[in-house]
Amino acid sequence: RAKELGKSMFKVFNRKMHDQALKLLALETDLRRAVDLDEFVLAYQPIVRLETRHISGFEALIRWPHPEHGTISPDRFIPLAEDTGLIYAIDNLVLNKACEQVRLWQKQFGNDELTLNINISGKHFGQAILPGQVSRALEASGLSPECLNIEITESALMENPSVAEDILKQIKNLGANVCIDDFGTGYSSLSYLQRFPIDVVKLDRSFINDVDDNLDSQAIVRTVFALGRSLDLKIVAEGVETPQQLAFLEREGCRYVQGFLFYKPLFADDVDEVLSGDKHRT
Ligand code: C2E
Ligand code: MG
Ligand code: MG
Ligand code: MG
Repeated sequence: RAKELGKSMFKVFNRKMHDQALKLLALETDLRRAVDLDEFVLAYQPIVRLETRHISGFEALIRWPHPEHGTISPDRFIPLAEDTGLIYAIDNLVLNKACEQVRLWQKQFGNDELTLNINISGKHFGQAILPGQVSRALEASGLSPECLNIEITESALMENPSVAEDILKQIKNLGANVCIDDFGTGYSSLSYLQRFPIDVVKLDRSFINDVDDNLDSQAIVRTVFALGRSLDLKIVAEGVETPQQLAFLEREGCRYVQGFLFYKPLFADDVDEVLSGDKHRT
């Protein structure tokens, strides 16, 4: 009996694995098609300069409106894109589209200072193709390089530090900025902030999230701002959701925030509206 049971369980297990594999394969096929037809849509989340409460720039965030499954979040399909090598094309699509869009807003709203943050996956970053792609996107769009921030994670840097150093230097030579995303969550040491040419650090939202009642998080946030001042890094606080969090950050000298308290990620039409309003703000 045990043997019989074992056999049938094996069958069930096997079928489940089989179904999952098929689903993944189908999703991969769909993702390939999405790349070919450029089915992706970009959302833009404003980054706010606290001094003026004006929008200083945007982070481009990819969305995939799947024809059958509804919109799929990047947390679900970016890993698949990394496994299949589609990530190079996807990040490059985002880079080009977003550079063009932000350059358009700069002209439309007479603000050449608007900045753009682009996420580059660790796998993509490790390849030597990024600097060329960045250079072409800047040239095609006319966006000036100092307006562009390339976001990478700590782990992307630490996987192969010497290659990373070389790629970062090339990006800096183009005149663009380097930004560390999700700072504080990766496996790394602080010494890399000195070793690599880093301009911006985005403090991960997990620290902001419980800054109200967690003394450890408060200490970490405080330390990162102190570090930013002494190493001359621009710090952006991610995931600010409440006035209490904002008040704490302002007391610590925070100058830039991104989070639902001010803006959610917006589609281009809504950005148009928000920027018109922002222009007339005093
Ligand atoms: P990320 O780069 O850390 O982006 C910030 C994420 O936090 C976004 O999620 C954003 O919607 C969310 N967020 C912003 N403010 C708040 C807040 O106040 N509260 C909360 N709870 N969340 C907030 P999203 O758009 O789902 O993106 C998830 C991740 O997917 C991104 O994390 C990034 O790592 C990756 N990603 C997005 N677009 C791209 C892309 O074009 N290329 C690559 N390689 N990765 C991307
Ligand atoms: Mg990011
Ligand atoms: Mg982040
Ligand atoms: Mg992230």
